Amino acid sequence: MTTTITPLIAGNWKMNGLRGSLEELTELAGMLTTGEAPRAVVVVCPPATILHMIASNGATSGILAGGQDCHAAASGAHTGDVSASMLADAGAQYVIVGHSERRADHGETDEQVRAKAEAAIGAGLKPIICVGETEAERDAGRAEAVVAGQLAGSIPDAAEQHEVIVAYEPIWAIGTGRTPSNEDIGQMHNSIRRQLIERFGDKGATMRILYGGSLKPQNAREILQVENVNGGLVGGASLLAKDFYTIISAV
Ligand code: PEP
Repeated sequence: MTTTITPLIAGNWKMNGLRGSLEELTELAGMLTTGEAPRAVVVVCPPATILHMIASNGATSGILAGGQDCHAAASGAHTGDVSASMLADAGAQYVIVGHSERRADHGETDEQVRAKAEAAIGAGLKPIICVGETEAERDAGRAEAVVAGQLAGSIPDAAEQHEVIVAYEPIWAIGTGRTPSNEDIGQMHNSIRRQLIERFGDKGATMRILYGGSLKPQNAREILQVENVNGGLVGGASLLAKDFYTIISAV
């Protein structure tokens, strides 16, 4: 891991969580304050319906809130959507954009993801931009090329002046219990780092690159120490305070 970058661990609750789930966060906050001080920025991205409760709950201080998606427009006739400024208004500081489940379920393109990231920056949020290849693309030896294309298309130019986070999430590793080898993770993260530096110069050397995909208490220590892995995006294992805390402590 690049030592000058403070790692970030973000939990993506996906479509899970009711008001009662905040107890899990209170428990996590308790662990974070009584245990050794976390060496990572801790973010939780709950469903939008309970986001404001995290941000306004003193019992979960130390845990920053993030959205799971935002619309590219600031407001308007987009039934069911949530804008970046609404998330910011509810207390979010981060927002995930371009998650593979959004790309697959809603047909989101790189261009749309880029527009969402721009909207997030405009609203004062830090976008966590997800990229990652399918299993077929990896098997065909195209993983790096696919991710390079997604990076070029999804990261806005504004990333040079604002904080933008990249999350590499091989699609075939999400929720499957399978992960790439540490060598493959390192190779991909180094490739992403090279592209960020090529495009954004010194800024590209300081942008966080998270790994996501079946990050668990059992594999977190190994994966989080791979070069250019600056933290993780955690799905399933972020739902239980104990598991998420173990991952955070692995930094
Ligand atoms: C995710 O959905 O971003 C993710 C990484 O999920 P999981 O940790 O469950 O694989």
